[in-house]
Amino acid sequence: MSAVVICLFGATGYGRSAQGVAGAGRALAGELGAELRAVVLGPMEEGELSALSGVADRIVHADQAELGDYQPDLALAAAEQLCKVSEPTAVLLANDVYSQEVTPRLAHRLGGSSMADVTEISTADGMIRVQRTAYGGKAISVYELKKSPAVISTRARSMAPAEPTGRTAEVEKASVELPEPKVRIVERTAEQSEGVKLEDADVIVSGGRGLGGPEPFEDLRVLAEVMKGQQAASRAACDAGWVPPNWQVGQTGKKVAPELYLAIAISGASQHLLGMGDSKVIAAINTDADAPIFKHCSFGIAEDFKKVVPLLTEKLRGLIQP
Ligand code: FAD
Repeated sequence: MSAVVICLFGATGYGRSAQGVAGAGRALAGELGAELRAVVLGPMEEGELSALSGVADRIVHADQAELGDYQPDLALAAAEQLCKVSEPTAVLLANDVYSQEVTPRLAHRLGGSSMADVTEISTADGMIRVQRTAYGGKAISVYELKKSPAVISTRARSMAPAEPTGRTAEVEKASVELPEPKVRIVERTAEQSEGVKLEDADVIVSGGRGLGGPEPFEDLRVLAEVMKGQQAASRAACDAGWVPPNWQVGQTGKKVAPELYLAIAISGASQHLLGMGDSKVIAAINTDADAPIFKHCSFGIAEDFKKVVPLLTEKLRGLIQP
């Protein structure tokens, strides 16, 4: 049997983070001379399936409706059945709340090793090697995953999307046996968000405690709109109740890596940096020229946000086409 690298996609679809998973899978499959197999759990939009068929060698689609629901027990059972048939060298997932529940349990069931929130994957001496940040983003650690398969979740947007192969992979339908879930969902509250997911955003305008209250977030909303970006916040701003908890970026919040992260009145604590330190460009506005965030910035303005934000909004309004 030839080597196989599996990328697992689920109910969250084929957005920017999932495209990065496919990119990492393609690169790893190339290094191993392996087939890149996309395993899709649950219904997926036709357009997303067709994008996926342009980058994978083979697609296996278990489209049972129950798998479209947030139910890790079912996803786990389906992933186990579909992975076991091909003895993959690696199984890659996007790092989101779903995969945080599935990744280590799947590795255990497949008898492999697992690593979460990985920013780089390579091979050395026939072994899969991964990198991830450690000590709140202050260091990078490198691991070798000894037991196969290596079940790995990749940090949002840390991997480049897969290039199209120029071929179209066929979509094979698969049927899996789903167990009775061990957990019953008694209530669901949909996340209040508009536009693209924070993890998939190209531009993020983020606000911190230095804004002093919820009102300035309205000015940041206008700036984000002009920049075609999404809004986020530090934990301090979320904990104060100024913005919803699902805006939080950092160690205990979302991990993002946009093209541009604009941190406004955020000090740059290590726990915050852990969630956005992989952004391509970081810019900051902060009155304190010694704030740690400036050490991680490509651009910074040491000034009161009240002076800078309106000027920046007006300037960019003229530059960025609607
Ligand atoms: P502050 O540190 O208070 O910084 C406010 C900044 O605003 C200052 O630098 C100040 O100079 C500047 N400022 C003030 N007025 C103005 C003005 N008018 N104009 C411009 N700038 C101004 N934090 C997270 O963000 N995400 C996490 O996921 C997270 N997880 C954590 C997990 C653990 C286990 C722990 C212990 C902490 C965690 N934290 C997290 C908290 C973190 O340590 C910081 O307390 C938090 O990030 C600080 O938020 P902040 O930068 O908004 O506030």
